[in-house]
Amino acid sequence: MRQRFCCKTGEMINKYEFDKEEMDSTLVAKWRGENGHDELGINDLEHWFNKQILTLYYQRNGRPDPEYKIDAEYEVLADDDIPDHKRAELVSELEAEGIDVETMTDDFVSYSTIYRHFSECIDAEKGSDDDDNTDTDWERDGIDLAKENFRDRVTKSLRTLSNKDRLAGYENAELEFSASLRCDHCPTRVPVETAVEQGYVCATHNDLDIAPDASSVEVVSSFLA
Ligand SMILES: [Zn+2]
Ligand SMILES: [Zn+2]
Repeated sequence: MRQRFCCKTGEMINKYEFDKEEMDSTLVAKWRGENGHDELGINDLEHWFNKQILTLYYQRNGRPDPEYKIDAEYEVLADDDIPDHKRAELVSELEAEGIDVETMTDDFVSYSTIYRHFSECIDAEKGSDDDDNTDTDWERDGIDLAKENFRDRVTKSLRTLSNKDRLAGYENAELEFSASLRCDHCPTRVPVETAVEQGYVCATHNDLDIAPDASSVEVVSSFLA
């Protein structure tokens, strides 16, 4: 069945009868921060897309759908950190109004699906066509995605252990992690973000004969933007 569509994003655009062309161009415009849209990261695009689905269910079932309500209730449905009883409360309220919550939340897409939809289905790029930094923007998004993925997986495993009473105190703990780059030739170690910002791993062993020139400074500023 799914082969008819480019990916789950395309399948949901079709299922909920969004205008494919309009949805694709809106997603890309938001991602790039063009046409009067605020620039959104892939994570925010995931939430924005899923809120379109949520809004549709509310409208079809006559539930009021002001933006603040959509934002708040989407968070209850989609955020892992929301206590189960709070989510269950909202779910039964929605089900009482005729909303098939399970089908709806199964149809929510993930940020990796959105990312793949851009890169593989519609061949969209983050930068404008004359922007030399397109590749570096892709890579930066890739790093962010990998970290989010990692965080999700670790969080799920830890929560499972915690639920099985094999990890005491998890509810009162904050997951902290970072990725670092270590120089092969000395003990220098820098966080990935710092390396990307400064444009090198180790000041001594960076294999650069000269200080960063104007063009690499430009790359750096695009990472900071
Ligand atoms: Zn797709
Ligand atoms: Zn070094």
